[in-house]
Amino acid sequence: MSKIRVTVWGENVHEHEMPKVGEIYPKGMHGCIADGLLEDPAFDVKIATLDMPEHGLTDEVLEETDVITWWGHAAHHKVDDEIVNKVKRRVLEGMGLIVLHSGHYSKIFRSLMGTTCSLCWREADERERIWICNPGHPIVKGIESPYFEIPMEEMYGEPFGIPEPSETVMIGHFEGGNVFRSGCVFLRGNGRIFYFQPGHETYPIYHHETVKLILKNAAKYVAPHGTIWKDGAPMIPVESAPDPISAKH
Ligand code: ZN
Repeated sequence: MSKIRVTVWGENVHEHEMPKVGEIYPKGMHGCIADGLLEDPAFDVKIATLDMPEHGLTDEVLEETDVITWWGHAAHHKVDDEIVNKVKRRVLEGMGLIVLHSGHYSKIFRSLMGTTCSLCWREADERERIWICNPGHPIVKGIESPYFEIPMEEMYGEPFGIPEPSETVMIGHFEGGNVFRSGCVFLRGNGRIFYFQPGHETYPIYHHETVKLILKNAAKYVAPHGTIWKDGAPMIPVESAPDPISAKH
């Protein structure tokens, strides 16, 4: 079976500007996310970062990507609109997209959602307990308990300015009382999108075993499963379809 080709996109700014982040993620957050995926032989993994030419997302890279993961925070505005449009077109064709944590405000996520994607937040070293809404969902496969915990996380709280998700897989509950739709699936065109809230840069969240498991499961879930559309049209020969008016029933 051919491998799922994942491109892990990282903004790669905090890692250089905040010593604490560099200590937790010596290879960058993207490096840690990539290493987690590479534990599973199902994946081929590439890395792309903001500072690369075309942010590492050339036409060739996008053409050879089944799933892209997206972590950004401080430099959403530095992401070129043309690249965002290319990523969006690929998602509509069928490429999977996993948007992580502060990626909720990325150009690509807001463009695909069509809403503000705003939320409320607080940095207070709170424990987060993430409840599984749908234990049968492929994204939470292998999690044996009704919830798992992240010892310290930035609080993200409702209201979350997203359209109603196709699937709400997880809800996070924070020590301070807030709740948040922490794991949501959206369908756009031929593509699947998974938004996953954990991942504030000053905590070692992408080293967390359950978080790593969810990212592996999610990459498999959002990977293309059927026909890839090109330029918004399915690659199906229309000549073979019956004429809807003259066809006899
Ligand atoms: Zn954060």
